[in-house]
Amino acid sequence: MPYTLLIRNCGQLLTLSGAATGQPLTGTALHDWQVLTDAYVACAHDRIVALGPMAELDAAQIGPGTRVLDAGGRVVMPGLVECHTHLVFGGNRAHEFQRKLQGESYLDILASGGGILSTVRATRAASEAELLANALHHLAGFRRYGITTVEAKSGYGLDAETELRLVRVAQEAGRQQPARVVPTFLGAHVPGPEYKGRPAEYLQMLANEVLPQLDPAEVPFVDIFCEEGAFSVKESRQFLEQAREQGFQLKIHAEQLHDLGGAAMAATLGAISVDHCDYLSEADAARIAANGRTVVVLLPLVPLFLRQEVYAPGRRLIKAGVPVAISTDFNPGSCPSKNLWLALSVACLKMGLTPKEALAAATLNAAWALNLQTEIGSLEPGKRADLLILDVQDYEEIPYWLGENPVQQVVIGGEVQDSE
Ligand SMILES: [Zn+2]
Repeated sequence: MPYTLLIRNCGQLLTLSGAATGQPLTGTALHDWQVLTDAYVACAHDRIVALGPMAELDAAQIGPGTRVLDAGGRVVMPGLVECHTHLVFGGNRAHEFQRKLQGESYLDILASGGGILSTVRATRAASEAELLANALHHLAGFRRYGITTVEAKSGYGLDAETELRLVRVAQEAGRQQPARVVPTFLGAHVPGPEYKGRPAEYLQMLANEVLPQLDPAEVPFVDIFCEEGAFSVKESRQFLEQAREQGFQLKIHAEQLHDLGGAAMAATLGAISVDHCDYLSEADAARIAANGRTVVVLLPLVPLFLRQEVYAPGRRLIKAGVPVAISTDFNPGSCPSKNLWLALSVACLKMGLTPKEALAAATLNAAWALNLQTEIGSLEPGKRADLLILDVQDYEEIPYWLGENPVQQVVIGGEVQDSE
């Protein structure tokens, strides 16, 4: 098949392939994937069709319809996969930053009507057009960082009508720009203000009135925040079981601030990912590892921004055989950053990952956390042509240049994106 796009002279081509298949990368497989040197990657329309050493490039497939990019010895890799964001919201919480610096905790601010509830007020007050414009603005930022797939949670409406609006906005934002948007329903973020003190009734309303209005083929995941001030393990289990019965795949925010046991509970229900896990116990890590499929999503920028000392035990999780992914948790309260590269650096510095492990965690394992592992996350013939040319010569530089954006060129679905 003639190539429509050829990237030649890749100093290092990070394929993310060649390790064990059929399950997320764990243990040594997290760094045993293949790096080709002096290589090329070729695409036909939106698919990767060939890759290999430059010496094996089939010149017969290059024609007048082939766009050729010369990587000039730089690193080329798959587009980053953001598997945990709260993309759609109104306003921001810059005013709470000062309160945090003066020592108020996340849960103190939430209890005083701030935090999530202040974003809920701003989100309810915003029009659908304003929310869409915000989401598109943030997606443009994600694309500049080379993020080509973005999971997008609802969760700042907390009533039936607004939660459904947030899901619609995420879907529409996915249609209006090239990055793939994967919507997740997180109506169960905290109990809606109208249900203060009645969390079980709020969850029942979501399960009975809202979930039936969503199509699991379009909104594949249902998520819940299992934490003090949000929902208990018992409430979370019941709600996730109801969501599973309605055909949704499961996610959970758990062990972010306390060890309640929510992550292991969700893993036993077959959750596709359990996210945060800063306070995950060793026993629960072993329970999660045993099922071989549930991905622990590490969110290293959150404890950084919340000024917490406790980070998820990444090194210990990898040793225990738990598959890990990395994401920003982009949201207005606990991580107003879209810089997934910075998250990789902090995962190395504070969670003990190696650069190669961190790269796998933000590509192929993040794809597993979205059930998109056959489509994205690695460079293999047949996969979607989401590719990055980075302005570095060696992958070890990626987490080293702390806070920088190494992206030089972004390709989404075989289309070279103009720099904005
Ligand atoms: Zn989150």
